Amino acid sequence: GYQRVLEENRKLYNQVQDLKGNIRVYCRVRPLRGQASGLTVVDHIDDGSITIITPSKYGKEGRKSFTFNKAFGPTVSQGEVFADTQPLIRSVLDGYNVCIFAYGQTGSGKTHTMTGPDVLTDETKGVNYRALGDLFMISEQRKETIFYDVSVQMIEIYNEQVRDLLATDVEIRNSSQNGINVPDANIVQVRSTSDVINLMNLGQKNRAVGSTAMNSRSSRSHSCLTVHVQGRDLASGTILRGCLHLVDLAGSERVDKSEAVGERLKEAQHINKSLSALGDVISSLAQKNSHVPYRNSKLTQLLQDSLGGQAKTLMFVHISPECDAIGETISTLKFAERVSSVELGAARANKESGDVKELKEQIASLKAALARKE
Ligand code: ADP
Ligand code: MG
Repeated sequence: GYQRVLEENRKLYNQVQDLKGNIRVYCRVRPLRGQASGLTVVDHIDDGSITIITPSKYGKEGRKSFTFNKAFGPTVSQGEVFADTQPLIRSVLDGYNVCIFAYGQTGSGKTHTMTGPDVLTDETKGVNYRALGDLFMISEQRKETIFYDVSVQMIEIYNEQVRDLLATDVEIRNSSQNGINVPDANIVQVRSTSDVINLMNLGQKNRAVGSTAMNSRSSRSHSCLTVHVQGRDLASGTILRGCLHLVDLAGSERVDKSEAVGERLKEAQHINKSLSALGDVISSLAQKNSHVPYRNSKLTQLLQDSLGGQAKTLMFVHISPECDAIGETISTLKFAERVSSVELGAARANKESGDVKELKEQIASLKAALARKE
């Protein structure tokens, strides 16, 4: 009896942890372009929420709050953003698979977060460079006990075609190395951050860019930098394998706004399809559905073994603060709400958190039962 109650208690505790999930959503608001005195839709930002001012056609209240695991305002630095990402990235060295996505409309700051601005300095460099630098630093610190091998791949998904940014055309091969779907793309071993910088420069040169009415240099493809880490424990010979996907997604703006026709329309349709497939996968993981629809896009197919299960997922959701971006901003925040397992917004949150609440109540009553035995 007593033992069973203890076990039940632990099981319920784990379920609560599971419900909290391995899916995190961080929201980042870009600074206003040009004059800092320009009008903005952002009313208030604190550590974990953003309140936007909504024109009446988007809802009655005029103000709407969204809650995230983290919210970053326009003055938050690249270093501060990375600091909140670091523990997740380091878990790769302990054998976890991690996926980090940058989501948002074109011009909202995805590439800024992941790579950085055109002129890169130690202050302005983005998550990709910092992640690699950090992984090398920690592996150096641990070298007396664990020997780490680090290798990278860089691919692009454009119109559902996978291309190796470090070589020629490739297809996803479903045979796996490390239990991960490895595209038949070059895997290049790297020994220092400068090796990585050279490869990233090569990859960036190869990225397809198209032009839309919104941004002539907007990227119409998803790009993915994958870091494979293998650690060998020098004493026991145990091998640890971890994998980090750093994904700069294509712009999430809807077709009509980009005045897309012909090729541009085709691109936009592929982008919409793959972003909604990604949303479907993440939301079904967050809801613990038994069927997860990985097969609906190349992107989710590629990342299948790093999304769900023991893998950890972080979505950086980017917001443009300008008033004319309000439509996209709202649909971006709604997407974030859909993929997030945390409590977002008022009405929906209560329903989702109901399970956690119920489990917590059960734990409390089991604890009381335990206490009575003592
Ligand atoms: P996206 O990749 O989503 O299309 P970018 O990352 O290219 O958008 O950002 C658009 C512009 O805004 C770039 O010039 C970028 O450097 C700038 N920018 C974006 N986010 C920030 C930020 N947090 N701080 C300063 N500048 C930013
Ligand atoms: Mg970009």
